[in-house]
Amino acid sequence: MNRVQPPPYDDAAAFAGLSNNARVGSHPHLQPLVGTVQASYAQYVAVNGAPTLVQNPAISDALATFLKGHYADPPADLAHITKMRESSKHLVCPMCGSMHSGTLDHYLPKNGYPIFSVFSKNLIPACNCNSRRGEILFGPNPGERVLHPYFDNCLGERLVSAHFEDLGAVPKVSLVLLVSNAHANYPAIKFHVDSIVKRSAVVGYVRDRWSKLIRRPSLIVRAFAKNIATEAEVQAILAGERDCLDDLHGGKNNWDSIFLSGLLDPPVTAWIAGRFAVPGRVADSALA
Ligand SMILES: [Zn+2]
Repeated sequence: MNRVQPPPYDDAAAFAGLSNNARVGSHPHLQPLVGTVQASYAQYVAVNGAPTLVQNPAISDALATFLKGHYADPPADLAHITKMRESSKHLVCPMCGSMHSGTLDHYLPKNGYPIFSVFSKNLIPACNCNSRRGEILFGPNPGERVLHPYFDNCLGERLVSAHFEDLGAVPKVSLVLLVSNAHANYPAIKFHVDSIVKRSAVVGYVRDRWSKLIRRPSLIVRAFAKNIATEAEVQAILAGERDCLDDLHGGKNNWDSIFLSGLLDPPVTAWIAGRFAVPGRVADSALA
């Protein structure tokens, strides 16, 4: 999960260009739609993409098919869609927080909201959590919905942490929310974490990081190459490491920061400090 800047493209102009492009077979069919599409794009932004507020004008099946085709294989006027697909592959997935993206996800699914099929601010770089999400948008209870990485500022807050129990070589790993149910966006945050983040591979990733930490601590935190004297020092090193990871990945809910947040849970920090303090411990040897 990450709050990211909306793409800078002028979608209204791009759509007008597409409708006037004689080399695109659909262009005569798109021309009557230009005013509706441009007004819909502006309204979408005006309500910050909130799915309960976005107006969704019906378009014919034929037009919907044209637009989905242009999304799948963008003509020159929509070249920015190809650029969006290519340019974000190495970045954290704004939807689930994994360490890569690689595809685009329609925030408002293109089947239910075909008018937004090629709207850049409805296209979110995402990893394969995209296909697991499918067309999920709302939950059954009030306020439950998927968060929008271009508009939901709460994605910039620290929302989720790994949680370790039965500390040792193979602990029990789960995810916990770091916000209380008094948070204004709590239903949406919980729904997003439950329906997208928890269904991703994040727990497997965290488990893998933990096993590397246990095997050789400096693989995860360079400063752990030597024995750390106090619990306060372990805590400060982990906090500094997480701060760097937040900065590196542009947010606090990438999988590496989620892992570090789990290590900063006081019982976990204390356990790590206890392992460093075992008499005769060889520096950077296995913790368990
Ligand atoms: Zn993802």
